[in-house]
Amino acid sequence: MTMEKNQICPKCAKLVVPREVIATTLFGEKVKEYRCPYCNTFIYSEKLSEMRLPQRVPEKAKGFYIAFEGIDGCGKTYHSQKVFEKLKQEGYDVILVKEPYIDAVKDFIHRSQEEIDADAEAYIFAADRIILQKNIVLPVLQRGGLVVKTLNFILLLSFFREAK
Ligand SMILES: [Zn+2]
Repeated sequence: MTMEKNQICPKCAKLVVPREVIATTLFGEKVKEYRCPYCNTFIYSEKLSEMRLPQRVPEKAKGFYIAFEGIDGCGKTYHSQKVFEKLKQEGYDVILVKEPYIDAVKDFIHRSQEEIDADAEAYIFAADRIILQKNIVLPVLQRGGLVVKTLNFILLLSFFREAK
């Protein structure tokens, strides 16, 4: 971007030669900002480098993920427990997981007397799931193990909400 050397400051309305400031944005881009030398108001900026997102190279997992889902009361917990026990007996490297995973999240959801904001609730469950996936599920799958999971609680909650 080529700009005239002299600019009119949008705040103090003076004709100025902007001061150059190198800054880094929240997204890791380097930008050259041009600011008013009198009131420091932002006038315009030039991008010096492109945004660089962290590389996400999916690792090839050798394991197997078995999820039990279905309507409330159809026996997901029972059957996932049975499958887990059977696989364990047969000598497989297997874990049984449930959502929510974090105790504090479980307590919060079960004990909360007040209506929880639906968006906040969705974020809480999303955070819980990310931690479960990264800390527990992925390491097991990467070493070739098996993961048995009982239905996620979000679905359960959506049933509650429908029923209200
Ligand atoms: Zn100014």
